[in-house]
Amino acid sequence: MITQSKLFIGGQWMDASSGQTLDVINPATEQPILAMACANEDDVDRAVAAAKAAFPAWSRSPAAERKRLMLAMADALEARAADLIDATVACVGIPRHQAMDFQIGSPIEALRYYADLCGVVDKVETKNNVTIMREPIGVCTLINPWNYPFMQLIGKLAPALAAGCTVIAKPAEQTPLLDIIIAEICETVGLPAGVFNLVTGIGAQIGHRLCAHPDVDMVSFTGSTGAGIKVAQAAAPGVKRVCQELGGKSPFIITDDADLEAAVRYGTENVILMGGQTCDALTRMFVPAGRYEEAVAIAKTVAEEQVIGDPLLPDTTIGPLASMVHRDRVLRYIGIGIDEGARLVTGGLDRPDGLEIGAYVKPTIFADVTPDMTIAREEIFGPVLSILKYETLDEAIKMANDSQFGLSSAVWAKDKSAALKIARQMQAGQCYIQGGYFTIHAPFGGYKQSGNGREWAEHGLEEYLETKAIIAG
Ligand code: NAD
Repeated sequence: MITQSKLFIGGQWMDASSGQTLDVINPATEQPILAMACANEDDVDRAVAAAKAAFPAWSRSPAAERKRLMLAMADALEARAADLIDATVACVGIPRHQAMDFQIGSPIEALRYYADLCGVVDKVETKNNVTIMREPIGVCTLINPWNYPFMQLIGKLAPALAAGCTVIAKPAEQTPLLDIIIAEICETVGLPAGVFNLVTGIGAQIGHRLCAHPDVDMVSFTGSTGAGIKVAQAAAPGVKRVCQELGGKSPFIITDDADLEAAVRYGTENVILMGGQTCDALTRMFVPAGRYEEAVAIAKTVAEEQVIGDPLLPDTTIGPLASMVHRDRVLRYIGIGIDEGARLVTGGLDRPDGLEIGAYVKPTIFADVTPDMTIAREEIFGPVLSILKYETLDEAIKMANDSQFGLSSAVWAKDKSAALKIARQMQAGQCYIQGGYFTIHAPFGGYKQSGNGREWAEHGLEEYLETKAIIAG
């Protein structure tokens, strides 16, 4: 595993000019695994200059050449799947046997999917005297969080490359390893220098420059709503396009005629997966009053079935959270839930048995949660499920939509058509019905304070394209 990191700018590996490093810590062992180079604003300027210099040639390169390079990247990433898995486990703490399915496999598929869309900028539509075409937007800053580091970078990088944009990637402080591997692959396959630039560092120090730089044309940001607002503010004076993929507090409505066992199991596992560190986790479960205690009992069983522990062991279903700092935050929310009077069904503040080291938190279920409670309103980003009670379906829909967020949602009803009627009323960018799962073929993004962009599917490409109209006299 890489232990010393460098920046990748204009096709060259270089030390950060600050000379500073930040330790990346394995959340299972609490031991440092990498001394990450901390870029400063001069390094950002160098990376933007490299991306700007590379843009004219890359944006005019034949679609077939961009496609060839992207497919070569996908093949090379697949060949290094074990490295990608090791890096994900070491930085994020997810169980090793889950990493390929949930973090690595679909982004590689997405790279191939977007490679097939490179021709979008060659399409020309003419109606009467108007000719419409699409062009790459330019130099893009890509800022990502730590929870799905590989997936989030590919979700931005693949459509950006397909469109003909050049990029500066800024990974989260906890997870630069995946981006470093991607930079190595860009070099290996011969991506032209400056098309992909990697700047590792501290968001609060270099984030403003990355977003405000006059030569940056577009910013794609995934992360917390608080940082997303700062990103938009920094980009606003330059009137840059900003694609924001932010936090969530997604609701899951289960109707009284649904298959309760299947629905509650699906919803509980959804929140526990990746230690609840998934932006679209269905953390508010709405259950009809008449079936409430039955649902609580099922959720308790599912939570207590989990095997918490070393992410390298094959039986582990939940590893540690991504950092000790994040563990403290999640425990603080669990404490608030208890203090505000929610019923702690299972889990809680204690360390799981036998795990004295590491950022471990027990899967936690709260019942008797009311919509005004903090744990029903704020994003916890941990394995914490709130179960709320409703009397009528209209009341459930109203409570579900009563949130500052609108990233995802879910419905489990008697059948698909009944679920669809409710899904249409959910104020969220996605709605999973009858146990649906994430796919790169569905546009993903938020309503309200969950953001304004869309990633994945063809919609993800739109973020990186301008529209030009030529009108003949
Ligand atoms: P975060 O906002 O703290 O950090 C995200 C990234 O922003 C990091 O790279 C960080 O260095 C950078 N950053 C911090 N301050 C910045 C600033 N002022 N300017 C520019 N960049 C700055 O988020 P996090 O804790 O890493 O991730 C968790 C959050 O991400 C959760 O809220 C989660 O819901 C959200 N998320 C959203 C999606 C989505 O697609 N909507 C996906 C995954 C995670």
